[in-house]
Amino acid sequence: MTRAEVVVVGSGPNGLAAAVTCARAGLRVQVLEAQPTIGGGARTLDLGLADGIVHDICSAVHPMAWASPFFAQFDLAARGVELLMPDVSFAQPLPGGRAGIAYRSLERTVEGLGVDGGAWHSLVGRLSEHHEQTVAVALGDKRSIPAGLLPRGVGTAAAFGAAVLEQGTRAWDRRFVDDVAPALLTGVGAHSISTLPSLAAAGTALLLASLGHAGAGWPIPRGGSGALTAALVADLEAHGGEVITGYRVTTFEDLPPAHVTLFDTTPRTLVGVLGDRLPPRHRRRLEDFRYGNAAAKVDFVLSGPVPWAVPDVGRAGTVHVGGTRAEMVHAEAEVAAGRHAERPMMLVSDPSVVDDTRVVGGLRPLWTYAHVPAGSDVDVTEAVTAHIERFAPGFRDVVVASRCVPAAHMSEHNENYVGGDISAGAATMWQMIARPTSAWEPYWTGRDGVYLCSASTPPGPGVHGLGGWYAATRALREGFGITQAPSLAP
Ligand SMILES: Cc1cc2nc3c(=O)[nH]c(=O)nc-3n(C[C@H](O)[C@H](O)[C@H](O)COP(=O)(O)OP(=O)(O)OC[C@H]3O[C@@H](n4cnc5c(N)ncnc54)[C@H](O)[C@@H]3O)c2cc1C
Repeated sequence: MTRAEVVVVGSGPNGLAAAVTCARAGLRVQVLEAQPTIGGGARTLDLGLADGIVHDICSAVHPMAWASPFFAQFDLAARGVELLMPDVSFAQPLPGGRAGIAYRSLERTVEGLGVDGGAWHSLVGRLSEHHEQTVAVALGDKRSIPAGLLPRGVGTAAAFGAAVLEQGTRAWDRRFVDDVAPALLTGVGAHSISTLPSLAAAGTALLLASLGHAGAGWPIPRGGSGALTAALVADLEAHGGEVITGYRVTTFEDLPPAHVTLFDTTPRTLVGVLGDRLPPRHRRRLEDFRYGNAAAKVDFVLSGPVPWAVPDVGRAGTVHVGGTRAEMVHAEAEVAAGRHAERPMMLVSDPSVVDDTRVVGGLRPLWTYAHVPAGSDVDVTEAVTAHIERFAPGFRDVVVASRCVPAAHMSEHNENYVGGDISAGAATMWQMIARPTSAWEPYWTGRDGVYLCSASTPPGPGVHGLGGWYAATRALREGFGITQAPSLAP
């Protein structure tokens, strides 16, 4: 290939979104990826646990990809990516053979939540109905007013803000009578890996819970998350771009000369590579970026479905295993204090709930991860197994094989997960807004032609490609004078 005009360091969803955007603007684009496989947090791999079984080693469930304005324009369906929709978006098993069930249907969910159905509807219903406005508020660049939000979306933005203030503070129990609905909402908020309640967790809960009742709900791509990566790479290559794997950028000298360079990395890697080439003040601000607590991954191979005590839990694409609101508060407080919870907060997904191609020879993968303190090197397989067994007696009997990646080893397959922080930066309210620094231009690095575009930038973690798209749009304007963002349509 001739010299690239744009170099992207890292091939996660944001890096590839940036690369596609630049390639579609007619520029020569090269993506440099440290790992032997492309896709960062969106890879589906054979881990050698059982013949033909593939596992999502990071992301598995994609409400954000469905809701993302980037992927909407990119049009995954037209590219053959099937987002399969479980009719239960997420579920929360509870002690005593009970469970909170978030059906894709809001009405059915409200009905199932009984005395707290009205509370669920008032918190989530409006946000779900106006999900495009909710997404504009929650997944914008946190610096500008998203196009289309004014004037119609002001009411939705206000409702979102009020709900975050309520569910992010000790007022969070006020509107509930029973313990099922609050647990159901808290399981979603706990994705942020923070103490509970917190404003960041509440924002996460309200965005994701509202998407659970909108459109595709919480979909799972047929064949696994790697389908998203494959579609992005195919488009990049069709527009003349390339991805070079096994190319780790550690020093400035590793960077091929290019007019624009986008880093799909954490600020830590950016500072490591650019060092004194960054303005000292901005460098210090990037060095102040905080990394959060962590996840330890356990991938299972099962001989049959998880025998959940409540049958409808088995219809969910995602199960939050953490028990009651009080139990999750305790588990996350333990992690925040640097300890392992006896019953950790966990996420569990069996993709074969909607995707029968994932079952091979009667075996199926089960994707799980548990929250642990940053840098933990503990193998959590037994804690995860025991916690699932609590709500699915007989689970141990269907386990055929398993593999744990402790938090301390997550960075070996993706160095963006510092100490196992899968959010690429602590999800505090401040860092969800002022990510990676409070600079007015969040993708700016202080050095001409160099941008940061990863989950460490707004709108933060998730497979939505938006950080990459927003950063690339700026890079096209500032680096090449291209003011009209290219079409992403197939
Ligand atoms: C266990 C786990 C479960 C998750 N579950 C979900 C989920 O279900 N749904 C969801 O939406 N999100 C989920 N996420 C989060 C999601 O995967 C990430 O937020 C998303 O992938 C971030 O995209 P990114 O492009 O910013 O970075 P990443 O996807 O992390 O990609 C960064 C890439 O840059 C490469 N890289 C880093 N440094 C260098 C270097 N120096 N040189 C060259 N290459 C480099 C890395 O190898 C990697 O390929 C999960 C993450 C994990 C780890």
